[in-house]
Amino acid sequence: MKAEIIAVGTELLLGQILNTNAQYLSVQLSQLGIDVFFQTVVGDNAMRLEETVRTALQRAEVVILTGGLGPTKDDLTKETVAKILDIPLKLHQESLDRIKGYFEKMCRPMSSNNEKQAMLPEGCIVLPNDVGTAPGCIVEKDKNIVILLPGPPNEMQLMFKQHVYPYLRSRSPFIIYSKVLRVFGTGEASLAEELMDIFENQTNPPVTPYAKQGEVTLRITAKAENEEEAKKLIEPLEQEIRKRLGKRIYGIDEESLEQVVARLLMEQKKTLATAESCTGGLLAQKITSIPGISQCFNTGVITYSNESKVKLLGVLQETLDKFGAVSHQTALEMAEGIRNRYKADIGIAITGIAGPGGGTSKKPVGLVYIGMAVPDKSWYQELHLSGTRERIRNLSTMYALDMIRLYLLEQ
Ligand code: ATP
Repeated sequence: MKAEIIAVGTELLLGQILNTNAQYLSVQLSQLGIDVFFQTVVGDNAMRLEETVRTALQRAEVVILTGGLGPTKDDLTKETVAKILDIPLKLHQESLDRIKGYFEKMCRPMSSNNEKQAMLPEGCIVLPNDVGTAPGCIVEKDKNIVILLPGPPNEMQLMFKQHVYPYLRSRSPFIIYSKVLRVFGTGEASLAEELMDIFENQTNPPVTPYAKQGEVTLRITAKAENEEEAKKLIEPLEQEIRKRLGKRIYGIDEESLEQVVARLLMEQKKTLATAESCTGGLLAQKITSIPGISQCFNTGVITYSNESKVKLLGVLQETLDKFGAVSHQTALEMAEGIRNRYKADIGIAITGIAGPGGGTSKKPVGLVYIGMAVPDKSWYQELHLSGTRERIRNLSTMYALDMIRLYLLEQ
């Protein structure tokens, strides 16, 4: 089944609001196994709206419109659709009563304009609005299904969940179920090489890679009659990918690196202390964004100046003089210092040049050292990152998180 989404509203065309309704609907429709080939935005203009709806009806069975169900004159969606489908609008008493009830509950007078919202295409399936005034509706005509939903996202989403999803589910023989494997530390190109045969033999379920900052996600998408069947299709392919990529897969679906690290720390009851220079607390911020981490996160300090590295972490002045603040020697002393002084199981430190200035030919922008200290050893990682200050800082924290993750996985 093919669907097309039309978002109605001049504010959308002017860029005053973002078309999040189309995004939401596309995600939902893809989960239902319904293809979306076109999304359109059209202003509050009867002629252009008519043209857009007529075009959509020719190329999709299901046409979903959002917006323009309001009480004012420029809300034209219902009128235009009714005209195109040649179905008269009729007062729907139950909807009018609901709208009246809504205003009574809000202790606000109802304007006569709102009565317009209870005028619905004759014979349609009415979709009650539990959080606003405008009811939505589903109109079935010949081979087409036209679904009208209100513009405000909270109203639209609730109506979709409660009424439209089950309606479409009953008409679609398949569901689409997907699982995302998150990979850190390997670029998209190398992954493509390692998984070439899998990418090339795409059947059901196919695997699609998507490169994000510092990581690649692999989405395995199965089309099946139900979730259980879909999971069965995904399982062997997931195992094969896991076999090849091993620990580089750090999480699934929406799981972030900091969530994985926090989970491992909590499971192993280990404490962590951080010392940051160029990332200015970003690592501590990410870790402390995870609820329940207080039992594991010990201390985080920002030691930006050389003086603070000496004073707060015990880095030797000699080390700074001889090797500089951005050096593996300093990173190691920072990690050991924070771990010893604050009695944590793991100490981690980041020092580097985030740019855009401050780089030299020997120590260019993007050179970052991550030091890590645990009871019996300490080691470091040297990174050569590129991009903006923000990217370098963000990637540095991700590499640091991954270093902690890999260590904890070995315990
Ligand atoms: P109402 O009954 O509240 O007037 P409506 O169905 O007429 O609703 P619109 O008037 O078109 O909807 O839009 C109302 C508000 O909903 C907009 O001001 C905007 O904040 C939000 N909105 C509308 N369309 C979208 C969209 N496509 N994506 C995100 N938000 C939207």
